[in-house]
Amino acid sequence: MAEQKRDYYEVLGVDKNADDAAIKKAYRQLAKKYHPDMNPGDQEAEKKFKEASEAYAVLSDPDKRRQYDQFGHAAFEGGAGGGGFGGFDFNSADMGDIFGDIFGDLFGGGRSRRANNGPMQGANIRAQIRVTFEEAVFGCDKEIELTLKDECEKCHGTGAKPGTSPITCSKCGGKGQVVYTQQSLFGMVQNVRTCPECNGTGKVIKEKCSDCYGTGYISNKKKIAVTVPAGIDNGQSIRIRGKGEPGVNGGPRGDLLVEVLVSRHPIFQRQDTSIYSTAPISFVTAALGGTVRIKTVDGEVEYDVKAGTQTDTRVRLKGKGVPSLRNKNVRGDHYVTLVVQVPTDLSKDAKEALRAYDDVVNGISTSGKSGKGKKRFMDKVKEALDE
Ligand SMILES: [Zn+2]
Ligand SMILES: [Zn+2]
Repeated sequence: MAEQKRDYYEVLGVDKNADDAAIKKAYRQLAKKYHPDMNPGDQEAEKKFKEASEAYAVLSDPDKRRQYDQFGHAAFEGGAGGGGFGGFDFNSADMGDIFGDIFGDLFGGGRSRRANNGPMQGANIRAQIRVTFEEAVFGCDKEIELTLKDECEKCHGTGAKPGTSPITCSKCGGKGQVVYTQQSLFGMVQNVRTCPECNGTGKVIKEKCSDCYGTGYISNKKKIAVTVPAGIDNGQSIRIRGKGEPGVNGGPRGDLLVEVLVSRHPIFQRQDTSIYSTAPISFVTAALGGTVRIKTVDGEVEYDVKAGTQTDTRVRLKGKGVPSLRNKNVRGDHYVTLVVQVPTDLSKDAKEALRAYDDVVNGISTSGKSGKGKKRFMDKVKEALDE
């Protein structure tokens, strides 16, 4: 008989109280290390991979885990199938889910690489759309045109001429992979390769469907509506379920992932839900205070500048920023840096007024009387500069 089965927790190297995330993480590491694609022909690695996969299949399923915790390996023995690994079928839809979950991002959606006769979800498709700064802030509806594969109606996706059906590949016996045994310097080496006869599908089509030339798919241009949510940021993706590649053997379609590219705005910059901009204010407004108009994504707003405002003072316009992706009613703020403009191209009168102002503040006697006169001079300066 086979050697004693190792404890599943021990296999994954996790604590008995490990949570789902820890179990998944441990499995990912092992799976990455021992995956057959990474270790072609290495039987020890394959054994380890299967052992880890089996442990994960049990411990990631709350019901199975409970049974295992209670009865140990006995929980799964003598039951369904009774195969080499406690009745686990590595080609079942069950495992397909686990692989999809784990390997979906690990190998870049490489689920379809394994020969599998069960239903498999189609691959994801990636696309990009460009939106303006404001469209990203407030959300918008867009449409993209894509070439999507659909199941061929004539052969229902089999690729075989109607009335015929694909036959099991004789070279690989339907497994989609063939094992080559080669003599090398280090002895006999086994290599696993995708079956050249059936390209890994495990099936061979003798008479091809004339509509789809045996591919099983027809490509069509399709317009797809994309709802861009308010608050989306540059580089974020929108997932549209079921608009990816068609599934295999009746599996669901993959998803369409639309990456959003946000165009730069001439005056606004964004960081998360905050918007930043600069606004010029006149030297006089900075000194005396006054109302300025500031551009925001909601249009112009009036802002009361305090007297004595220094250049590069940052003010906050509350709630004029970007809506939160989770709740568009919650908005960030808009921060405006007020930049005091030093006047250039002064008229003769303006220059005179400024000199008069200078005289006043530096205490040089002028025709006006001090104290009361100060205000009148400032008014003159303001009048001259506000032109
Ligand atoms: Zn067809
Ligand atoms: Zn084959």
